[in-house]
Amino acid sequence: MNLNSVTALRRPTSAAAIAEWRDGYAWLAGGTWLFSEPQPATDTLIDLDHLGWPALEASPGGLEIGATCRIAELYRLEAPRGWIAAPLIRGCCEALLASFKVWNAATVGGNICMSLPAGAIISLVVALEGRCTLWPRGGAPREVPAVDFVTDDHTNILKSGELLRKIQLPASSLVKRAALRRASLTKLGRSAALLIGTSGSGATGPAAHDHRRNPRPMQLWFDRIPSVEALRQTIDARIPADGYFADVHGSAAYKRHLTYQFAEQIRAELGRPGAGA
Ligand SMILES: Cc1cc2nc3c(=O)[nH]c(=O)nc-3n(C[C@H](O)[C@H](O)[C@H](O)COP(=O)(O)OP(=O)(O)OC[C@H]3O[C@@H](n4cnc5c(N)ncnc54)[C@H](O)[C@@H]3O)c2cc1C
Repeated sequence: MNLNSVTALRRPTSAAAIAEWRDGYAWLAGGTWLFSEPQPATDTLIDLDHLGWPALEASPGGLEIGATCRIAELYRLEAPRGWIAAPLIRGCCEALLASFKVWNAATVGGNICMSLPAGAIISLVVALEGRCTLWPRGGAPREVPAVDFVTDDHTNILKSGELLRKIQLPASSLVKRAALRRASLTKLGRSAALLIGTSGSGATGPAAHDHRRNPRPMQLWFDRIPSVEALRQTIDARIPADGYFADVHGSAAYKRHLTYQFAEQIRAELGRPGAGA
């Protein structure tokens, strides 16, 4: 849609060119959300497209994802053979409600910064123990664990004018066994529930279950594959019955039910010797 309140578009070639920040400014990434509804509080868009950040850099240390990497580019990543958790990448890209435009224009950083409960890229970077590099205006860069980035529905830790620059996924997570379960009301629709489990080598390795049907991502850690009962107890201890996000995609009770169901499926899958992503 036309954004009638916007009167200026800036196209900096470096983030430092935007030294001052004021109300009315907004970073523009793929624009799929910005242009999907009126933005009365915004008068100036600052396009990230000309900053020239590399999209994807794979190295022995892991995968670095530039915030301006398109979700379609991430989907096409040819991961090194040893990264057996890499199928999670496609699984999470496919977990978005993506029209042709959203699929090709939306960015990884935009999805994370939107911080919606249905933000499947958030689930991905949290499950793979990512770290986010943030560039404040006029301050030193800071790094935060991805699990701490989103704090509530459409709310995150970014300060005024602060940029999400990149996300690093460590190789130690990409070589883990992984399992994903997802429910949506329609085949290609927005996720009502998305759970990911990863497991290190051997039954005593760490296992994490990332639950993304809460307003913010949840990470549960176990020092070995838990029993059915231990898994259920941990879920109940961390997430109260009314702590699930109720919306048009399902009631809190429905999402709680899916969580139990999927968590148990993931537990059983990762508990099987030799099971992989
Ligand atoms: C039809 C449709 C379906 C959608 N389905 C989903 C869905 O299933 N799940 C979901 O999560 N979202 C969905 N969305 C919302 C949105 O399109 C996605 O979240 C998308 O990934 C946003 O990315 P973008 O690059 O287009 O962000 P933009 O629209 O450009 O920006 C989104 C917000 O993030 C800020 N921002 C962007 N990049 C940065 C950065 N690097 N640093 C700091 N701030 C930044 C912008 O200022 C803006 O506030 C949907 C939208 C539409 C129109």
